[in-house]
Amino acid sequence: MLNVVLVRALFALHVGEVIALLCAAFMTAAMARSHPGQGAWSATLMLLVTMLLVGWQGYRLLAGRRSLNVAGLAVQSGVVMVAIAVATQNLAAGVIGILLGCAVLAVWGRLAKTSDRRVSDSLEPSPESVYVAAAGPATQIGFSGAVLAVLTALVVLAALSVRSNIVFGLAILAVIFIPLERLFALHPLRVLRRGWRTDVVHYLVNGAALKVGLVVSVVVVGSVLRAFVPAPLRLGVAASPAWVQIVAGFAITTVGGYAAHRAAHEVPLLWRFHRVHHSVREMDWLAANHLHPLDETFGRSAAVLPLYALGFGRVSLGAFVILITVQAIFIHANVRMNFGPVRWLVATPQFHHWHHAREPQAYNTNYAGEFPLVDALFGTLYLPATRWPAQYGIDDTEPAGYLRQLAWPLRSRCAGDTEAARPNLVGDRAFEPTGKVF
Ligand SMILES: [Zn+2]
Ligand SMILES: [Zn+2]
Repeated sequence: MLNVVLVRALFALHVGEVIALLCAAFMTAAMARSHPGQGAWSATLMLLVTMLLVGWQGYRLLAGRRSLNVAGLAVQSGVVMVAIAVATQNLAAGVIGILLGCAVLAVWGRLAKTSDRRVSDSLEPSPESVYVAAAGPATQIGFSGAVLAVLTALVVLAALSVRSNIVFGLAILAVIFIPLERLFALHPLRVLRRGWRTDVVHYLVNGAALKVGLVVSVVVVGSVLRAFVPAPLRLGVAASPAWVQIVAGFAITTVGGYAAHRAAHEVPLLWRFHRVHHSVREMDWLAANHLHPLDETFGRSAAVLPLYALGFGRVSLGAFVILITVQAIFIHANVRMNFGPVRWLVATPQFHHWHHAREPQAYNTNYAGEFPLVDALFGTLYLPATRWPAQYGIDDTEPAGYLRQLAWPLRSRCAGDTEAARPNLVGDRAFEPTGKVF
């Protein structure tokens, strides 16, 4: 019964979205006639293509599909991102677009959840999970811990903005995170744990590779995307106040990052690269850098390219790259910090540790990098109040050493290449708890 109501509501929302996109297409077509040569025709074309894709999604819904595929996820994320950019100029139109796009995502998430209920009901939390509440006085960090975390972020940000040298950045991060992980250790872990040298190489090489990768993707993909955004919208966004750009930029980055991360789990080719990151068995601040450079470039590009295409200024672009980097390191840290209700607002170590958990009930969850709200919206949030995972990692065994890890996605098949063995599936294929982990 609930499903029938949800399907009807979702279909109505799709109709609303198609009408809104059609109206926007008429507006840009009128703009193209009055201001020829400013890219408005390409925007009209883009809006019409998006409208067709949304219509196709509505048809799939009626045909019995109950979950969002990767193409649908990309379209809906794009709708929300553009609506946020429009809101910096036209609040009423932007807010309607944001509400409509978010409502579509929320109902898709709810539908997927109701059809997956058998999974969450049948799986009890692992008895080996770590219960923070029972683990001693250092577990609830409360106000002083929150202040400490904010100060940490500020020091790191200040240090990186003063001198954005990669090696200097590593030294600063080590000075901050090594004592923090000693004070609030979640799992017993040596500072120089297994694979630390490889992870330092990941940090140093990937940092440089990311810069090159971002420049290439901005020049190649960003320029193409920019051609589809009408000049008046770009100029309007660039002219909006700095704080508006920062708030809107955060919202766009987090939606883009979510979509790319989820695609990295659902598209087999992307998973080949992303599994390098999920091979981490011991979570700490250094493990945050354990990524394949192509995977990292793909994820960051998805977060930054929309900002570039929509006309956000260089200052906000640079600030986001630094903020996302610091946040990414913090959420991997081996710290037993329980942020209470704050955990719903900002991504915390507990939130991201569950993304890496080797426990079936946490599969397909917590893709967001900054705001758990996005996962709540898409129906992929898993955030117990005080429990932490006992184990991390995937079944595939990663080779040791940076160069071997670099070549790993190209050389060997992975569990993700066979449907049944890749549990981290959303989309059209049903989730089956196979006992394997991602
Ligand atoms: Zn992941
Ligand atoms: Zn991670």
